Amino acid sequence: MVPGDTGLLLRLQTEVLEAVACGEPLVAVADLLCRRAEALAPGVVCTILSIDGEGRLRPLAAPSLPLAYSSAIDGLSIGPQSGSCGAAAFHNEPVIVTDIGSDPLWNDYRGLVEPLGLRACWSSPISDHDGRVVATFAFYYRTCRGPDALERSIVQTCVHLCAIAIAHEQVRQRNHRLAYFDALTGLPNRGHFNELLDRSIGMAEPFGLLLVDIDHLKLVNDTVGHVFGDRLISAVAARIADCHPSLTACRLGGDEFAVLVADCHDDAALQDAASRMLAAVRGLVQVGDQTIDPHITIGGALFGPDGADGPALSQNADFALYHAKETRRGGYVRFTPGLRTSMLERATMVRSVDSALAERRMIVHYQPIVRLDTAEIVGLEALARMRMPDGRIAAAGEFHAAMADPRIAWQLTGQMLTQIAADIRHWLDLGLVFQHVGVNVTTGDFQRGDLETRIVETFERAGVDLKHIVLEVNEAVYVGGNDQMVPHAVSALRQRGLLVALDDFGTGFASLTHLLSFPVDIIKIDRSFVARLGSDRASDVVVGSIIDIARKLDMKLVAEGIETPEQARILSELGCVMGQGYLYARPTSRDDTTRLLSLFAQKLDAAGTRRSA
Ligand code: GH3
Ligand code: MG
Repeated sequence: MVPGDTGLLLRLQTEVLEAVACGEPLVAVADLLCRRAEALAPGVVCTILSIDGEGRLRPLAAPSLPLAYSSAIDGLSIGPQSGSCGAAAFHNEPVIVTDIGSDPLWNDYRGLVEPLGLRACWSSPISDHDGRVVATFAFYYRTCRGPDALERSIVQTCVHLCAIAIAHEQVRQRNHRLAYFDALTGLPNRGHFNELLDRSIGMAEPFGLLLVDIDHLKLVNDTVGHVFGDRLISAVAARIADCHPSLTACRLGGDEFAVLVADCHDDAALQDAASRMLAAVRGLVQVGDQTIDPHITIGGALFGPDGADGPALSQNADFALYHAKETRRGGYVRFTPGLRTSMLERATMVRSVDSALAERRMIVHYQPIVRLDTAEIVGLEALARMRMPDGRIAAAGEFHAAMADPRIAWQLTGQMLTQIAADIRHWLDLGLVFQHVGVNVTTGDFQRGDLETRIVETFERAGVDLKHIVLEVNEAVYVGGNDQMVPHAVSALRQRGLLVALDDFGTGFASLTHLLSFPVDIIKIDRSFVARLGSDRASDVVVGSIIDIARKLDMKLVAEGIETPEQARILSELGCVMGQGYLYARPTSRDDTTRLLSLFAQKLDAAGTRRSA
């Protein structure tokens, strides 16, 4: 090669590399490369074809040939007999055909190039880093001949440049995939969703947004492992994505998906889309030798009525999802303005309980549980109270909603357990007599799976025997979940020697079957029954039957909310031995409770034993 040619090749190289570095699209770079190569080798017609994942030719650039040529080539399979390029790609080696008119390689394709005056073709394969042929670079000649020395140098340079441009494009595509698509499910990711949402808003056509969250994924991760959790996410993603052409599903992160519902005019259309998704997700997922039963919960909002911009729409759909998780797991809830108000109130409440916890302003009050026949105090129920910054003591009702936040519930129980253990120690040291103190626990306490350890450690540290503790679990918590997590945890605690009371009994959740499979030690009859005693014969019958059942199942009974002597009398007549309520004492501070215990605690008999309650 003469020095002038080397300079021209270097210029070509610089120009093409600059185009790659500037981020020019691959087709533009390929086009530039062909044009510059043709300028260096007059009379030559240059083409670059890429090879797709299925081994088909896809024209990238053929600037000197008519479009019809590219269209005719597009999608042809590579193979040993499919022209110079198809054969070069197939064998991964250069193929020189000096006479297209007679070479059998061109038997099927001759008609494609001869009318264009092309007589010979030299095609070179271009491989990627893994050695896979990704493209071909071809020189066509208008006479029957092979390449000369200069052309060989040009092609060598061009093949190299083309490989660089294609590798660059592959990296760009990979980065685009990573930036826009979720690796696990292949769905658009959060960033991409935001763009799609903006696009939907820009199109000014009615649409809806459904937010989807898989139920109990943590449980799947914890019980069968993260790999299965991942598979569950993928399976749910695939089912949602394939559900209907009008739905565009994106993975926002974790187990949460956003689904844009196109052409969605009203509540009914949004409801339809949600029902379709709930149905699509149903059905066991087989993962290895495990089967998992997937459930999702959906919150929805309609663009316009439920949010006039992206952030408002997303937030409102989120409110709906949050509410659905609490009230309609496995189902769908559409946003209503009331949801926002109650969520914001709750958020305020959570903040105020949070600061009360941090400032140790959550305190314990105790309500005595008495023998109905003697009014002696046999036990206590511990109740959380919040000392407000102005000194007022707020009752549980004022911050109850914050307890739906599992983190708050968990922290509060921790502080309560520590205070209760210290108070019991204090009373035991004073020689006061009582049987046990009831501690209320909620779903949040069970979710982390460490309740048993926390209780055991806290009371051991205070030197208090576990027999003094009654764990009060309300019906909704005991049997309200989809799984058996709470009943199993309760069984384990009972084996530790703790007593367990089923709180608010009769309010509609616990069935007798539950009591048979997961027994408790004490049943607390809900105050709503007690309130109607004497005035409503049905209540007398229900309470009478509960007392009867409890006695037969060998469980103790405590009636809650006794306010009148008449209620106490009826309960006694029905056979209930213990109760609590304003008739006897309101919940009160530790020091007042100490005084009450010294005055009214159950008396020991001459042998130093208590009468059993
Ligand atoms: P809920 O029924 O209330 O939705 O509870 P959940 O157990 O599904 O938990 P939540 O939706 O609150 O949080 C999602 C959990 O999913 C948190 C995390 O443990 C788990 N998770 C998040 N991302 C992944 C993931 O990529 N793979 C797996 N296996 N688990 C994930
Ligand atoms: Mg979830």
